[in-house]
Amino acid sequence: MKAPEPNKDIEMRGALGGPRVLLRRLREVMAEPVSAQERLDKIVVLIAANMVAEVCSVYVLRVDGTLELYATEGLKREAVHQTVLKADEGLVGLVAREANPINLSDAQSHPAFSYRPETGEEIYHSFLGVPILRAGNTLGVLTVQNRARRTYTEEEEEALQTTAMVLAEMIASGELSSLAKPGAEPAARHAMHVTGTSLCDGIALGHVVLHEPRVVITNVIADDVPRELKRLDAAIATLREDLDRMVEHRDLADDGEHRDVLEAYRMFSYDQGWLHKIREAVSTGLTAEAGVERVQSDTRARMLRASDPYLRERLHDLDDLANRLMRVLSGKDHAPSKEQLPDNAIIVARSMGPAALLDYDRKKLRGLVLEEGGPTSHVSIVARALGIPTVGEIENATGLVEPGDAIIVDGSSGQVHMRPPPDIEASYAERVRLRARRQAQYRALRDRPCRTKDGQDITLMINAGLAIDLPHIEETGAAGIGLFRTELQFMVANAFPRTSEQLSLYRSVLDAAGKRPVTFRTLDIGGDKVVPYLRNIEEENPALGWRAIRLGLDRPGLLRSQVRAMLRAAGGRHLRIMFPMVAMVEEFDKAKALVEVELTHLRRHGHPLPERIEIGAMLEVPALLFQLDELLERVDFLSVGSNDLMQFLYAADRGNKRVAERFDPLSAPMLRALKDIVDRGRKHNKPVALCGELASQPIGALALAIVGYRTLSLAPSAVGPVKALLVELDVKKGEEAILPLLDRPAGSISIRHQIESFAAAEGLQL
Ligand code: PEP
Ligand code: MG
Repeated sequence: MKAPEPNKDIEMRGALGGPRVLLRRLREVMAEPVSAQERLDKIVVLIAANMVAEVCSVYVLRVDGTLELYATEGLKREAVHQTVLKADEGLVGLVAREANPINLSDAQSHPAFSYRPETGEEIYHSFLGVPILRAGNTLGVLTVQNRARRTYTEEEEEALQTTAMVLAEMIASGELSSLAKPGAEPAARHAMHVTGTSLCDGIALGHVVLHEPRVVITNVIADDVPRELKRLDAAIATLREDLDRMVEHRDLADDGEHRDVLEAYRMFSYDQGWLHKIREAVSTGLTAEAGVERVQSDTRARMLRASDPYLRERLHDLDDLANRLMRVLSGKDHAPSKEQLPDNAIIVARSMGPAALLDYDRKKLRGLVLEEGGPTSHVSIVARALGIPTVGEIENATGLVEPGDAIIVDGSSGQVHMRPPPDIEASYAERVRLRARRQAQYRALRDRPCRTKDGQDITLMINAGLAIDLPHIEETGAAGIGLFRTELQFMVANAFPRTSEQLSLYRSVLDAAGKRPVTFRTLDIGGDKVVPYLRNIEEENPALGWRAIRLGLDRPGLLRSQVRAMLRAAGGRHLRIMFPMVAMVEEFDKAKALVEVELTHLRRHGHPLPERIEIGAMLEVPALLFQLDELLERVDFLSVGSNDLMQFLYAADRGNKRVAERFDPLSAPMLRALKDIVDRGRKHNKPVALCGELASQPIGALALAIVGYRTLSLAPSAVGPVKALLVELDVKKGEEAILPLLDRPAGSISIRHQIESFAAAEGLQL
């Protein structure tokens, strides 16, 4: 077999003007009205000539994870579209995997070296390969090779990376898809499906809107490099001034962004290594924006592969800083304005504050995808209140999509489908129709009392915490608010809500509820409920730390002002106050005494007082299980917080995915505890409700009704499904089937299966 000829053009074109000349020539090629293949062919010829290389090849990453040779100058032409490398094959595979350049004067002695005979590459010794990156994702690999053992200079490596940006634009635009065989399309623009954490149930189909969008670069190649360098310097100066101002101005610094983060940004904006890299990229012939994006893309690629959390954090900060710099350069501000928001918008964000989410037009907002954000993050709290299907913890979500891409958010399974194929889209559209039909059935149940088949009345209330929750009372036909989480107002605010703001919220809650009762829970902050503007104290075990009523009793000023706001808001009306995380009866006594003090104060000042006040406690700490009689003598009511009770009963962090699902609340120990609480309440003639997530799951509500609960407080979206189930239940039959198992669980302590079998036998839909 005849070895391919070295490229003769090289000598003819001479030494070749460096990267700027190359980029200028590439721009001409990009503008030519030729086919995608012809364009690629011309590009590899140009690069090879410019770099005095005998070979230049482009490999494109396909959906199946392999790398296909799309164009070559120097290797055998027949190999184009025939040579397909496995993801871990050879040096090209290594470049793609590591998203890092490889520069070798003797490639064949590298342990990863392998060659494909059909390409004829065995005669080339030196090898330089760079990843084709976009937003940190590898789209392909660009290589040059020479026969002689030569070392490519750092400048050449840099130039090749710059050139790869042009190819990244071409691949991301979808232009190459026409060259692909079905099932082997470029990965960049293809359907993708990733799984994260479900933060809010529901399904949404729509189109991507990037929150704080990456600035889309329309011009990669600079006309005038010195001018681009000047623009870059000016933008860096502006960026620094902005950051200085934000750090100096406490008010502004508190406005959503944490001071420490800003301090870190400011420090990074002086990072010489980072700035030097951007300048260098621009010097090779890129526009200022493209220079920033090139370095940002490298940073992202490293971030995605870094396992050290400290390093990841730092890279994240640099990535954010690059976004800011890009916005300064392009003069483009944050999210699209309300008018620009498309219908069926699905917001994709790195992270987001709760206020930012509320800024979007609810009517057009369908779903939310976050790179960060756990279930207790503020933005997910607001998303749940708004009922927006949300999935979090999708790594590099913002880098995987382009604005306008079709996308499906499946909040029930935590899956996100990007650019879904038609069959997936059709099946989801069907599910959406089905859900809508079911919602209509639930609506039909709205005004029907929740009475079981054997005539037991079960009161269904909703959990709430923000003004945006209030319409849910009417929509669900709930009997009231069984848990109003007052800390949410504090968690979504940028600064401490004044007493007057608390008062006004509580008043509007009571107004919205009308005659229906509302149970206000006093502040439950600390632990996982972080309020950014309160100085957070480092604690080894925050869930077991200084939180909720502990904090309230130690800082009575805070609790008293809150209680005062509640008492005043409820002037002339019925008020129910509940204290969270009580662990000893004395704590309840102290908190109750504090309410008395406030009452006396208001009475003395002639304020109208509530017509009736009931004071209760949450039962979340197992120690209370052994003080039940004493507690029930004191309280007007109890509400079981099954989330925390479960966490403390099994010593399993409710927010830690590894352990949160390890233990089953539908297990004998938990159900015995729950039954004991409600039985004891009955003995003392004190109402006992349950307001944790357990009540919001149909199977949980079923178990609770069987062990004796007659008041449940649920997520608003759960009222329909739970009511539909309970009205079909014969509680007596449930007691007969399930209660004996609590005393003698067979095999596993979990009795979930038996509850499921009972439901199936009774024709109950879980
Ligand atoms: C609970 O712990 O079950 C509860 C309702 O309170 P929160 O989820 O707000 O801690
Ligand atoms: Mg709790």
